[in-house]
Amino acid sequence: MQRFTCDCGNILFFGSTHCLKCDRDVGYDPEAGKMLRLEPGGGMKRCENGSEHAVCNWLLSAGSPEKLCLACRMNRTIPDLKWGRNLMLWGRTEMAKRRLIYTLLQLGITLQSKAMNPKTGLSFDIVSTLSNPTVTTGHLNGVITVNLEEADDTYRQINRQQLGENSRTLLGHFRHESAHYLWQRFLSDLTWEDPLRMAFRERFGDEWQDYAIALGNHYQQGPPAGWETDYITGYAASHPWEDWAETWAHYLQITDGLETCESLGIQVQHMALPLVILPVEAGFLPTILKHDPVANDAFLAWLQRWICLSSVLNEVSNSIGESELYPFVIPVKVAQKLRLAHHYAQVWRQPKKAVKVPLK
Ligand SMILES: [Zn+2]
Ligand SMILES: [Zn+2]
Ligand SMILES: [Zn+2]
Repeated sequence: MQRFTCDCGNILFFGSTHCLKCDRDVGYDPEAGKMLRLEPGGGMKRCENGSEHAVCNWLLSAGSPEKLCLACRMNRTIPDLKWGRNLMLWGRTEMAKRRLIYTLLQLGITLQSKAMNPKTGLSFDIVSTLSNPTVTTGHLNGVITVNLEEADDTYRQINRQQLGENSRTLLGHFRHESAHYLWQRFLSDLTWEDPLRMAFRERFGDEWQDYAIALGNHYQQGPPAGWETDYITGYAASHPWEDWAETWAHYLQITDGLETCESLGIQVQHMALPLVILPVEAGFLPTILKHDPVANDAFLAWLQRWICLSSVLNEVSNSIGESELYPFVIPVKVAQKLRLAHHYAQVWRQPKKAVKVPLK
């Protein structure tokens, strides 16, 4: 996450709705990628989910016929707001969802709702298992379903322990499911021999192995012994699609985490820790893709900065009596999977509108 500033110079955060220094209402403009002051005649209005329910701080153009912001327009189903508890859980869910959308837009991946674009659009169903017991968090044909109860910390922690996970967050769910959506949008229609598709198989394995059987085996037997050398989480070992989803979620987590640290001035150059030097092959793309040593080095430098900063964050977390903030280890094989995720992100980036650079 980048650092935001108010027109008055005060620092604002991604979730800010009000500037405490100049006492003005503020909100995030996803088009401009900035926090703006909300002023009469200023050309922007608050999303109705913000003005009516206080669950959104995004803005849209005052002249727009739409009432909801870009992120809220992607909702197909929202929870039943008869219960106050649902409103609280929904607010947390929307916050996590906006953070996912922010990072995807920052990466240059365009997003439209399924209502706007039935073929490649994305929509969200946010539903509680209390009102619909068959609901599970997942992705199907451009619709991400999130079980609202996952926003309840106790519920989520119980699930985490039962599933033997070392980390389970709402934002992690959104990031994970976005990987399934992007796979379908960008990779599923490619031919079997397309280099991007072959690269996927080289890193993650054959995705045509039976998914239901693979997940059944995973939930019965757990991950294979020694999974830590090949996968970022035990769940990633269940099936190539899940390995991809866990890897992509992790790629977004590092992207956001590192951007946050560095934009707020936590720089690796200031750390007393030596940089962990990964072997050069950790930055390699699959052999089917063009070898690009410069890009590989840039990727490795990025990953090494995160490994250093996250070990600092873990120590801080221990200092205040909490367990590690970032309970992950990145072996070479996982680094190579992250490298491919990074490559995909660059391929999927939409070209920015051409800017004319004046000749000197
Ligand atoms: Zn201000
Ligand atoms: Zn909104
Ligand atoms: Zn999944």
